[in-house]
Amino acid sequence: MNLIRGIKGTAQAYWITLRTMFRKPVTIQYPEQKRQPFPRYRARIVLTRDPDGGERCVACYLCSAACPVDCISMQAAEAKDGRRYAEWFRINFTRCIFCGLCTEACPTRAIQMTSDYEICNRDPLDLVYEKTDLLIDDTGKDPDYNFYRHAGIGVVNPRGGNEDEKPPADVRDLLP
Ligand code: SF4
Ligand code: SF4
Repeated sequence: MNLIRGIKGTAQAYWITLRTMFRKPVTIQYPEQKRQPFPRYRARIVLTRDPDGGERCVACYLCSAACPVDCISMQAAEAKDGRRYAEWFRINFTRCIFCGLCTEACPTRAIQMTSDYEICNRDPLDLVYEKTDLLIDDTGKDPDYNFYRHAGIGVVNPRGGNEDEKPPADVRDLLP
């Protein structure tokens, strides 16, 4: 009985080896050949701009609060017109685990993940990205979204003054 089981096990192993020998190999000759990741692949993080070209980030700290490894830090500042922005913004990619929680937490869709996975570096300090390394001149995955136009903060227009915005509700009108 043991002999039959042994022969069967050996034959199965040979069969798997033979079958695999005639399959097309999946090895990719990286870095000469590059694989295109799926669109939702989570790699290098960027800070995007709204369609008007302004910085989307309002330095609300939600991304750094959501980050499980505490690798995002920033300093909030306010422009003359009242619009908030990050005076400096830093991500330590030596700690980032590319979980995407920061992008989920962001109310302005400023922080987004890209599929650029080639950010390896020998010097760990080169993996600490400052705002100049993170901010791109593009809207990223959501080209039409403009936080200030939707939020109705009186920076772009007076509150309720935007085309796609209803006037602010007076909560006293809602009371019984
Ligand atoms: S992807 Fe995850 S670990 Fe990386 S910065 Fe965002 S929240 Fe932090
Ligand atoms: S990237 Fe988004 S969540 Fe993070 S501080 Fe800026 S606006 Fe807030």
